[in-house]
Amino acid sequence: MERTQGLYLTVEGRNNGITIKSPVELRVMREAGRVTAAAREAVVRAVQPGMKTKELDAIAAREIRQLGGKPSFKGYRGFPATICVSINQEIVHGIPGDRVIKEGDVVSIDVGAIVGGFHGDSAVTVIVGRASKEAEKLVEATRLSLELGIRQALAGNRVGDISTVVQQFAEAQGYGVVREYVGHGIGRALHEDPAVPNVGEGGKGPLLRVGMAIAIEPMLNMGTWETRVLDDDWTVVTADGSLSAHFEHTVAITERGPWVLTALEGE
Ligand code: MG
Ligand code: MG
Repeated sequence: MERTQGLYLTVEGRNNGITIKSPVELRVMREAGRVTAAAREAVVRAVQPGMKTKELDAIAAREIRQLGGKPSFKGYRGFPATICVSINQEIVHGIPGDRVIKEGDVVSIDVGAIVGGFHGDSAVTVIVGRASKEAEKLVEATRLSLELGIRQALAGNRVGDISTVVQQFAEAQGYGVVREYVGHGIGRALHEDPAVPNVGEGGKGPLLRVGMAIAIEPMLNMGTWETRVLDDDWTVVTADGSLSAHFEHTVAITERGPWVLTALEGE
């Protein structure tokens, strides 16, 4: 049974099977990732208190267009914008609009771009202005959990080897790891198999093979892992109202190890 919710596969979601990309296709995916990263960083540079979230969306849209890409999310299952902007207790899928960003907000930006028929997908969380120590720790832990997950993106490993390092690292610090929304295979479709959960057991799940590309995207909550969806049918928030952070990279499995396709130039 297929069950999808918004821009993310749910744990049960299945899309398009696992696809293996040729070296040439992975180079095209790197171009999509480069454009995705440039749009992500343009938004990160611009964000400041007093801005409306729709202004951030316009910045990302312009950057993607100028670099010859197309937004991945706009129109996807009816999503109305180029990026998702999810603030504080919002986890993912916040819709840009007239909301004004305030000092101390924890702002997650999720962006995707298509180049040459392939998608890039990446997210980052930033704190605007001064933040509480707790918020800083949450954001840094989420970033590090993604780093740890990426290091497990090795041919011969299984998806569960990624899931388990993310879960163990996050839970050791008392954070809730979101379960209903997961990472995913990515290629000519934004969402392909396999699902890449952020909780799981090492040695379990689909085998990682050279030529696969996956989006790894831990979502960590200050409180419990439970979520709910707001009345706009998109915005996912923490059920207990606690802060949440989200980081994501698109990563290729290669003979030489993980290739972060959505890294900035020179990274
Ligand atoms: Mg994303
Ligand atoms: Mg994704």
